[in-house]
Amino acid sequence: MNNREINTDKVGLGTGDALLVIDIQNDFLPGGRLAVAEGDQVIPVINSYIDRFIERQLPVFATRDWHPKNHGSFIQQGGSWPEHCIAGSAGAEFARGLHLPAAVPVFSTGIDVDKDGYSGFENPDLNKHLEKLSISRLFIGGLATDYCVFNTVCDALNRNYQVLLLTDAVRAVNVHSQDGEQAINQMILKGALPITLAMIQ
Ligand SMILES: [Zn+2]
Repeated sequence: MNNREINTDKVGLGTGDALLVIDIQNDFLPGGRLAVAEGDQVIPVINSYIDRFIERQLPVFATRDWHPKNHGSFIQQGGSWPEHCIAGSAGAEFARGLHLPAAVPVFSTGIDVDKDGYSGFENPDLNKHLEKLSISRLFIGGLATDYCVFNTVCDALNRNYQVLLLTDAVRAVNVHSQDGEQAINQMILKGALPITLAMIQ
């Protein structure tokens, strides 16, 4: 819970910090197969965070949902979601307006038929990369608040990373109308520090 004691007026970026961009893919945007309301609104905000990290030569990582056609989470397979983010499809591509530099490492999740892929840490390469670069503090935003952001943040906290939740750069699926709000509250209770772009120095 130490994170919550940090002075929240300003957050200085420095060595050990990394930005983790979660699943900003076409299928999760309005018009996509599993559209998140206002999902597109996170794009310019995430771009500004990316700029801040690149300016300071700090690492940026991205995750993507990357499913086989017969993924177990799909309704056709007895799961709860419409088909989405099928590996190699247009829906699985990153949003066109997202300014991810080409060199950014991308970690795919949900590749296995029977794994949800809700957490970026399901891909073991993510943690290996973070350890290799001695990352201690993760700034996390993207889609969707109540699934992949939530699970990635919880896993990061369980692995003793400090987590700064980019509350202006997340949106929720809201299967139930309060899901996003509850997810944010739970992440904060578990130790994530909520911040906005204006707080980055
Ligand atoms: Zn998925």
